[in-house]
Amino acid sequence: MENKRSTGVIIVGAGLTGLTAAWYLKSKGCDVVVLEKNSRPGGVIQTFSEDGFIYEAGPNTGVLSHPEAAELFEDLAGRCRLETADARAKRRLIWKSGRWHALPNGLLSAVKTPLFTARDKLRILGEPFRRKGQDPFESVAGLVKRRLGKSYLDFAVDPFISGIYAGDPEKLVTRYALPKLYALEQNYGSFIRGAVRKMSETADERQKKATREVFSAGGGLASLTAALADGIGSDRMILNAENVKVKPAKSGFIADFMVDGRSCRLEAPFVVSTIDSMHVPGLFPFIDGREVSKLASLEYAAVTQVVMGYRKWRGMSLNAFGGLVPSVERRDILGVLFTSSFLKNRAPDGGALLSVFIGGYRRRELAEADDDHIRTIVYDEVRQMLGLKHPEPDIFRIFRYPRAIPQYFRSSKERLEAIERIEDSYSGLTIAGAIRDGIGMADRIRQAKAIAGSIAEKLTKL
Ligand SMILES: Cc1cc2nc3c(=O)[nH]c(=O)nc-3n(C[C@H](O)[C@H](O)[C@H](O)COP(=O)(O)OP(=O)(O)OC[C@H]3O[C@@H](n4cnc5c(N)ncnc54)[C@H](O)[C@@H]3O)c2cc1C
Repeated sequence: MENKRSTGVIIVGAGLTGLTAAWYLKSKGCDVVVLEKNSRPGGVIQTFSEDGFIYEAGPNTGVLSHPEAAELFEDLAGRCRLETADARAKRRLIWKSGRWHALPNGLLSAVKTPLFTARDKLRILGEPFRRKGQDPFESVAGLVKRRLGKSYLDFAVDPFISGIYAGDPEKLVTRYALPKLYALEQNYGSFIRGAVRKMSETADERQKKATREVFSAGGGLASLTAALADGIGSDRMILNAENVKVKPAKSGFIADFMVDGRSCRLEAPFVVSTIDSMHVPGLFPFIDGREVSKLASLEYAAVTQVVMGYRKWRGMSLNAFGGLVPSVERRDILGVLFTSSFLKNRAPDGGALLSVFIGGYRRRELAEADDDHIRTIVYDEVRQMLGLKHPEPDIFRIFRYPRAIPQYFRSSKERLEAIERIEDSYSGLTIAGAIRDGIGMADRIRQAKAIAGSIAEKLTKL
């Protein structure tokens, strides 16, 4: 790489957001360069293949909740294959009073389930007639208690929030953390009425691509990021880019950085950040400190993922997506995914691949425990909760994420407003990534595609 170069768009960060944005920009004929501080692209997505097991270090699966996620796989046809989960993934287990219970999936099971109290089951009949919430910053817990009752919060929403945000439903604000749920109440006055009305509305062909299906990529999620990186090309991807600093220039922005001890400079009319909020002030030192501090203060949940592979599974039936543990149960794990039950070739025949999650926003100290302590916790829980006399697996790996999942609390309003002001003040600058617009992989793909579309259009007008 020459030390000075100009391009159309500089993207900082080669995780799913940065790679998707760059791939779509390149597909539209735009000149783009990605700067990544690590020695590999993919960000938190990383897949390992070892002794007959295929396992993920970061996210395991996403949900095709936006058409853009399905479209990305269509656009990558021949280079990467969408893998949707086996029907078993529809069965979700919740831990209550010493055993697993399946989350109800129909009327009869909803009446019979011991997860919710008889009072709340009756009370739910009145949900369509309950008043619409007035507080735009109501927490997820507040909304669910008000509309459905506390047992639905404790044994459905709290574990669901653990599974997605590793977060605290008392602090997460619904309109930012679960915008579809917020819109359901605001637009239809009730979850039940909203769900019924939505079923009768006719979705166009594109909207039909948004489903609740669980996805991965054939061979693991790294084959998705590898396909994107290949498409972008190694000449447009600068790895090991250290100390990237951006400043405004006459015709856009200049990014200065170091690679292998050499100073490098890139110039472009557009720059997109997709990095962790904490590092945004360092990337854009020219932005008013009071404004960037509203971004940098975004809190993250710490998550430690323990992957365990068993050549021969001798525990309970793993005929489900996995199990989630409500916080009121006071166990030491957030949940466990039965990955080999619903994705292909993840474990040898007769074996099992599990991912156990520890910590979260409310139990950071557990996520930060040393390896021996983590091992003890996981063995104890697996022994008791999965009926395994001998919990020692054939492979055991610990992956730590001190800043795993951003938490969309009440301060999101100030953060989003600050991002808008910054982007208005510096034309050509975009602050993206999970700092806004959702934390899931489908959210990341949707945001990246939208950014690529908007920048490509502006580039043609320059
Ligand atoms: C443990 C875990 C489990 C998850 N589980 C799920 C799940 O089940 N389903 C789901 O949909 N989502 C899940 N997620 C979320 C999902 O993985 C993320 O939303 C998505 O992968 C984030 O992609 P990204 O590109 O925005 O960020 P990242 O993957 O974090 O990529 C950012 C990139 O920027 C680089 N970078 C940072 N600072 C700089 C700098 N100063 N200069 C240059 N480069 C820099 C980083 O090295 C990194 O490569 C999970 C996340 C974690 C951590």
